[in-house]
Amino acid sequence: MNFYFEAVNVLDKLDAKKGSIKGVLASVPEKNRKRTAALVIETLKYKQVLSEVIEAAQLLKQEKKITSRNLALVLVHDLLLSRGIQAGDGPIKQAVLRHKTRLTSEFTRAKLKRGAKSNEELAQTDDSRAASIPRYIRVNRTCWTMKDALKTFQAQGYELGDPLSSPKSFKQDDHIPDLLAFHPSARFVDDPLYLSGKIILQDKASCFPAHILAPPARDNAVVIDATAAPGNKTSHLCAIMQNKGKLYAFERDRKRFSTLKTMLSKAHCTNVEAVNSDFLTISSSDPKFGRATHILLDPSCSGSGIVNRMDHLLAAEQEEDDDSDRLNKLAAFQLKMIRHAMTFPSVQRIVYSTCSVHAIENEHVVRQALKTEEATTGGFRLARRNQVLPNWHRRGFPEKLDDPVNADALVRCSPGEDATNGFFVSLFVRGDEDDASERAMKKRKEPAEAHDSPEQPATKRKKKKKKTVKATET
Ligand code: SAM
Repeated sequence: MNFYFEAVNVLDKLDAKKGSIKGVLASVPEKNRKRTAALVIETLKYKQVLSEVIEAAQLLKQEKKITSRNLALVLVHDLLLSRGIQAGDGPIKQAVLRHKTRLTSEFTRAKLKRGAKSNEELAQTDDSRAASIPRYIRVNRTCWTMKDALKTFQAQGYELGDPLSSPKSFKQDDHIPDLLAFHPSARFVDDPLYLSGKIILQDKASCFPAHILAPPARDNAVVIDATAAPGNKTSHLCAIMQNKGKLYAFERDRKRFSTLKTMLSKAHCTNVEAVNSDFLTISSSDPKFGRATHILLDPSCSGSGIVNRMDHLLAAEQEEDDDSDRLNKLAAFQLKMIRHAMTFPSVQRIVYSTCSVHAIENEHVVRQALKTEEATTGGFRLARRNQVLPNWHRRGFPEKLDDPVNADALVRCSPGEDATNGFFVSLFVRGDEDDASERAMKKRKEPAEAHDSPEQPATKRKKKKKKTVKATET
């Protein structure tokens, strides 16, 4: 019965909006994860009809042993749609089996009502937006080069072309240098390249923050990832830094911290020191962390931008995420994190990002952050568009800002429309930092120190591309 309780625990957390399906499943012990995930996802697919059947059969009213709706859902799922309840005989199993006849007839009634000829027709369908998002993989430059990656995939039968046109087509991304896009149906979780850390499964938009932060690849570099687990952006930062300098990765949650460590080790990150602490408790005057010049802040958010086949299953119940109380609480926390980052004396660049589509967590937070004492005394402002993916078309919402001009400095991704999940990125810089880094980029004295950026104006980009290939492949 433990297996069912594990699944119920996941469903309870999803009801309490404690994370996405993927995120919550990640906290299930690895040995049970696959089986629990299958039951949770199948139960969610049939949740509507199963709830109706349970209600009509009055299972919860008549059986006190069935202590919650989610317990009833997983057990009735297996009874009606799978191979039966996979547990030894006991009072809970007996409590459900006593109602088998009634549950079966209510299920048949529900099927007839819907005109469904098969059980599959009762399942909730996929989010169609997910089909327009390619399967992105980031080539982990810490381990190998893009050139080798391209050769490897071509040797496996993939051909360069539009990734949405055929399962065997793939292409290099137009905005992120290390990113490849494959057909949405492509699966890499069991691929030796993934298992060895040579490729990282990461959505395109999720690659924007590290790319925009553009930390230096220097032995004396000090960078902070303030909210790191599971660690995709941390390993991206590490790759951009060419495993040089020091990258402190904070994660306050113990379980997620353990995942972070596993991911970083898999990605061969040797310049990262993972710290199981709350970033807000880290003193900016600490001699170790206080030297940080770049901070990546990707704090907990509503996750409302995430489109995937699974999370769509929650949408029917939770409808639009318009729980403003919850969003306001998240926004207050997000603002606190930015303010704290701004107290670090050496910090020059702070990227603030979310996978939310709500202005409350995005433009509003940025707008408030710019007015704080930390921003004014620290001399922080938004970096100009030329530093923040200038060739990306979708920018911030002007009407949600005090100064509409600032919208151009912000990056937004619209789920489904931009071949990515929904996302938001901003870059705070101190004083004339972005002018300074622009000058530095122009000079390009030390090509290995600057992160490849295909986002430069066209003429510069041509010249840079040559250098990029060189820097990447040597
Ligand atoms: N950047 C991560 C990545 O790309 O893999 C995802 C980060 S996730 C959106 C936010 C993470 O920040 C969660 O793991 C959460 O536990 C952690 N977190 C939230 N508040 C924190 C704090 N005050 N200090 C450190 N970690 C925090």
